[in-house]
Amino acid sequence: MKLTEMKSILAEHKLMLTKSLGQNFLHDANQLHRIAEAAELSKSDKVLEIGPGLGPLTELLLEQAGQVLAIEKDERLFKLLQLRFSDCITLLHDDALAYVKQHRDWAGWKLVSNLPYSVASPILVELALATTQPERIVVTLQIEVALRICSEADSDDYGLLTLLLGLNYESRGWFKIPSSCFFPSPDVDSACITLVRRPEPLLSPELQAKFVRIVKLSFSQRRKMMHKLLKSQWPDDQLTEAMNKLGISLQIRAEKLSLEQFVELTKLLNAP
Ligand code: SAM
Repeated sequence: MKLTEMKSILAEHKLMLTKSLGQNFLHDANQLHRIAEAAELSKSDKVLEIGPGLGPLTELLLEQAGQVLAIEKDERLFKLLQLRFSDCITLLHDDALAYVKQHRDWAGWKLVSNLPYSVASPILVELALATTQPERIVVTLQIEVALRICSEADSDDYGLLTLLLGLNYESRGWFKIPSSCFFPSPDVDSACITLVRRPEPLLSPELQAKFVRIVKLSFSQRRKMMHKLLKSQWPDDQLTEAMNKLGISLQIRAEKLSLEQFVELTKLLNAP
């Protein structure tokens, strides 16, 4: 979909875009193709698209995948999409964050989306910690968020988002999408990031819930020692023994600990 076509659809339907819904539409054909390519689609794939907007990415997904489920919150766009794609896709008028909180089984699905910025991180966390996660996630986000997802321990970007997504996903890289590729142009550049579900989960579902508790509490006050923070919910002697066993200083702050160390700490804190 070219920019001129986008503008004429918006004008024809007298559509004023809503900033709070992150309505910056991607019109650059080259970038749209790069996103679809990163998804490695085939006709046996089921694809979830969150926020189809006017449908520039939806067109490509429909061409390349077997099934497309698209969730759009804006009723005006939902109606336009209904006209445009009729019964080729399953189209829902819903808040995607509420939807993914309720639908927890994404076995056999891929998420491919240019996500609305305001809900991008919570949607990704919900899907990454679902009962069964999508096998591949290819999403466009603010570049700062992409850097947080891909960061390493002991860097400024490293934190809760890195760990909650990293538990079940490995990053396969990202590419920058300049703000000029969107209409209207947002204030910041974006990035398309590819995440692939780990072949074997690092933790069982029960331990995954514990991991989330440990990580959230450890990062609840970034400048504080994590031992002090965790002591509020775990017995001091168990915590001290586990950290000693892993060779982790009791003075350490959460941002210094790698994903693997958080995983091992979770196992030890769950030991009988
Ligand atoms: N995919 C289109 C594109 O690439 O041009 C539009 C992307 S635009 C960044 C985000 C889209 O998400 C908008 O169409 C917006 O209305 C929709 N949206 C915003 N919040 C949403 C939510 N909570 N659930 C579903 N869709 C949402």
